[in-house]
This record gives sequence, C-alpha cells and structure tokens, in this order.
Amino acid sequence: MAQYFAFQWHITDDCDQRCKHCYIFAEGHPDLVTMDWEKMMFVLEQCENFCSRFGRLPYFYITGGDPILHPRFWDLLLQFKSRDIPFTLMGNPFHLNEEVCGRLRELGCDKYQMSIDGLENTHDWFRKPGSFKTTLEKVNCIKGAGITSVIMTTVSGTNIDEIPGIVDAVAAAGVDVYAFARYVPTSSGKGNEKSDWYIAPDRYRDFLTEMDSIYRRYEADDACVTYFNRKDHLWTLFEYEQGRFQIPADARPGMIYGGCNCGNCHITILPTGDVYACRRVQNSRVSNIFEEDLSDVWLTKMERYREYDKFKKCSRCKLLAYCRGCPAVAAGSSGGNFYAADPQCWASEEL
Ligand code: SF4
Ligand code: SF4
Ligand code: SF4
Repeated sequence: MAQYFAFQWHITDDCDQRCKHCYIFAEGHPDLVTMDWEKMMFVLEQCENFCSRFGRLPYFYITGGDPILHPRFWDLLLQFKSRDIPFTLMGNPFHLNEEVCGRLRELGCDKYQMSIDGLENTHDWFRKPGSFKTTLEKVNCIKGAGITSVIMTTVSGTNIDEIPGIVDAVAAAGVDVYAFARYVPTSSGKGNEKSDWYIAPDRYRDFLTEMDSIYRRYEADDACVTYFNRKDHLWTLFEYEQGRFQIPADARPGMIYGGCNCGNCHITILPTGDVYACRRVQNSRVSNIFEEDLSDVWLTKMERYREYDKFKKCSRCKLLAYCRGCPAVAAGSSGGNFYAADPQCWASEEL
C-alpha cells in the first residue's frame, strides 16, 4: 500500500483562546483569516492531484485556530468522507459534546488532538480559565464516540517541571496518546539563555531521562491505556546513547530514513493559501497554493529544506538520517536559520 503524505491544513485563524505561545496571535495577525469554500475545494483537489502524482495517499491534519469554528467545517468533513480521506482534528475542547463527537466519528475523524501546557494554574494562564478541566473532561466524550484522544504539550523552561504531573493527569483521564514538542521561540529573546522559556541541553537530557522512566512505569502497568509517543527527534539521540536505537547495518549513505518531516512527507497550508514547509518554522513560507501548482512547489522551492549538508551540527552527526532535532526550534532560537544547531541537542561534536 502507498505511504501517507500529511497535509496540515489550517482552515481558519478563528479561536476562542489566546494562548501565550500561539503563532497566530504572537505575530499580531491583523485580520483573522478564514478560507472560503471555493478555495477549500481547490486545495482539496490540489492535494489529491499531488498524491496521485507522487503515489501517496492523502492524510489531513485539520486545524486552525479552532477548525470547528469554520462556517463550512461540517461540509468539509463530508467531502473527506465522500473521498474516503482519513483525518485528525487538532482543536479546542469547548465545542465538543456527545452529539458533536458522534458526528465527527461518522464522518471519519480518526483522532482528536488537544493541548495541555501545564498543571491547572499554568495551563489556564497559558490558555484561558477553565481550559485545563474542560480539556480532560472532554476526553471521555471523544473516546466514547470511538475517536482516538490525543494530548500534546508544548514544553519550555516555564512548564518543564510540571510535565510529570501532566502525564499523571493524562494517564488518569485515560487519554489514548500523549506526546510533547518543544516551544519554538516566536519573538526575540525567548530563545536565549537568560529567558525563562529556555531549556539548557543538559537539562533537556535529564528531562528525557526522567520522562523515560515515568513512561516505562506506566507502560508496565496494565491499567494504563495511554500510549506515550516519543515524538521529539531528540528521543533518537537519547535512545542511541542508551543502546536502544542502532544505526541499521544496511543504511545507505545520503539516504534520509526518519527525523524532521520537512521536505519529506509533510506540508502546511494556511487559511490564506500560503504553503509552509512547516508551520512551526516561522519563515518557511515557500509559496501560495492559489498561485503555483503544489506538486511543482514540492519539486522546486521545497528543495531549500533538503540541503542536508547545510545543517551546522547535524551534517557531521551519525544520526543525521534519523534525527536533525527540530529545525523550527533551531530557527526560532537563531534569528531564522533552519540549519542552525538545535539549541537543546546535547550531543558532542564527535558523535
Ligand atoms: S488554541 Fe491554538 S490557535 Fe487558539 S490561541 Fe491557542 S495556540 Fe492559538
Ligand atoms: S546533532 Fe543533529 S542529528 Fe545529531 S543528535 Fe543533535 S540534533 Fe540529532
Ligand atoms: S521543523 Fe520541527 S516541528 Fe517542523 S517537521 Fe521538523 S521536527 Fe517537526
């Protein structure tokens, strides 16, 4: 069977929250944009053409803002259903109830992803009062409808000490999948070593060590239903050092086997039609889907994210083909250089 290609599609900027780390509001977006129906149909067609040209199957991550606030949200899901395209929703908990979740499932929703960014006080400070409790309460509603519930955390220096507590809350709520990603500094100063948001590489390694032992404890417990997705690519470095990841003997030089998805199997489309290599890489706009054919963009302008020998540190690392850290974090911390060293990578230059 053909492999999936992931389209992260932000259909609207509209949202009930104003998270402190949000890209949309951090950039002081002058107008909140919502893509209109005609354009949405064009995007769907472009994505399907793209997949048939490259022999892939489309998979959509529909998000916003909060995608459910899009005025044609349900019509879009009907389109997915009729075209037999699987999708995940990444949104807020506020508009979910049994009926809504049941309908989402009927229309083919595979997973529903929400965020928890700290224990109750921290999370509600980041997002909005009541958000923490509402998020965990809606997990049952999502699962009850047969949808996989996913919780993601954005980790920074401001909440790193609270992540073990979040894991306990998530496991107690019976969440199906849990993962964290690192905060991408969106404004000057937040990535530097004096900022509260910064995490030093050694601290990050210690954090992964602690999380690994917490995960293992839960993984050994039959009562825990949560799958802990070791999503950050620096887990590969951690597992390599532990001897749990080995470079395959038949690995071919110059091949990319995993790690950062930029330029490989993922693309982001914004409500304006702007196409990004990755939404988290602030300056990675490569085109606009209404101006250029998506397949052509993939073969031409996306090449600038496939220059693996340009990675300042990773290009000399044994794990280049499997990791590359998170270039979004590297770019956000270095004034926009996608190929800068990942600021939390603790690997020595000799690795
Ligand atoms: S929920 Fe998402 S889109 Fe809404 S403000 Fe928060 S980060 Fe931004
Ligand atoms: S140098 Fe790059 S590839 Fe190597 S471990 Fe660090 S982030 Fe990963
Ligand atoms: S830049 Fe970071 S967030 Fe974006 S695809 Fe690569 S690893 Fe993932």
